[in-house]
Amino acid sequence: MTASPPAGLAAEVRRRLLPWFARRARALPWRRRRTPYTAWVAEMMLQQTRVDQALPYYRRWLRRFPSVRALAAADLQAVLKAWEGLGYYARARNMHAAARRVTSDLRGRWPVTAAEWAALPGVGPYTAAALASLLHNEPVAVLDGNVARVLCRLRAAPLNPRSGAARRTLRAWADELLPADRAGAHNEAMMELGALVCRPRRPGCGVCPLRTVCAGFASGDPHAYPAAPPRKKLPHLTVGAAVLRDRRGRVLITQRRTEDMLGGLWEFPGGKREPGETMEQCIARELREELGISRSGTPTAISPSNSTRTPRGCGAAGRVACIARISRGSRRTGCACIPSPRRTCSCSTRCAVAPKKQHDPAAVAARGGRERRLQTLRRGFARGSENIRVLQRRS
Ligand code: SF4
Repeated sequence: MTASPPAGLAAEVRRRLLPWFARRARALPWRRRRTPYTAWVAEMMLQQTRVDQALPYYRRWLRRFPSVRALAAADLQAVLKAWEGLGYYARARNMHAAARRVTSDLRGRWPVTAAEWAALPGVGPYTAAALASLLHNEPVAVLDGNVARVLCRLRAAPLNPRSGAARRTLRAWADELLPADRAGAHNEAMMELGALVCRPRRPGCGVCPLRTVCAGFASGDPHAYPAAPPRKKLPHLTVGAAVLRDRRGRVLITQRRTEDMLGGLWEFPGGKREPGETMEQCIARELREELGISRSGTPTAISPSNSTRTPRGCGAAGRVACIARISRGSRRTGCACIPSPRRTCSCSTRCAVAPKKQHDPAAVAARGGRERRLQTLRRGFARGSENIRVLQRRS
């Protein structure tokens, strides 16, 4: 059970935390120039993403979309392209929708309170609290993973922060610590402490400003807090995809539905193999069901192949990963849209194509510049849906 908090915990935390933050806070670009737009972009990117991963994206994003009006006016595909590689693409779609709402429905006026922020697409309670407190000092406590860990350790509480009951308890504790007049700075300092000092695996208790009031440190085993959540078994999927090429050498790719995982991104057509199916049967069925294609395009020089992997296998994006290759005789030569593979895949079948960027046809198309471009195809590959596109190859 949870230990009782040390007497005067809230007062001591407030007294020690903010001076430490003033000395140790990282000079991050969204702290140097904080506007509603920059703060919102940063908070959206930092959902599920580490600061060092988000930094280059944040800088590129502000060059590409320097204002909310520029973002609202951009095409969604351009927004997804700018987000490419950051993961959780629903965030990019939500930002695009939110930018349009701010510029049209709200006539350029940004939300102020946490409740107003939470009404924007993609802004949950954590992000809303962070933005309202950082921008307007609204006294609402932030409870992200870093803050939850610090709170559990401060009280030596073996809670599982992913459970609903534990989150309610942690939120009450976070509110107790919050100084009403410095809410924004306090929230930011708690998050910074969790990121820099009270790290998940190696808490730096020796340099922590809160160690004299920390029950986890006093217990001698701060790692024991919070409780480890039960591990979920990783799903293991077998998927197949086809590389279809017409006589002009164009390769068919399709766009995922926006409501699905990785929605709006591009992939070779295919899907999950059902029990008892061969890979060829799986691909034929997927082509028939998804696209109404009953023949697998031009058969010469192309053989659909497969890879069995977990979603984390080689870090590539979803089911288009590591599954498309062209065989010439017995020699693997690479992805249909890449004449010469530059890297070797790290998945279990080690097909000779690069795992991530080279498998993303949209990324390849963009890199290909003048020789390759995406265009809408209304006819060509059988009974095409509106979503069918081709990767144009002129080489
Ligand atoms: S003393 Fe150690 S366990 Fe406690 S808050 Fe600081 S870093 Fe975390």
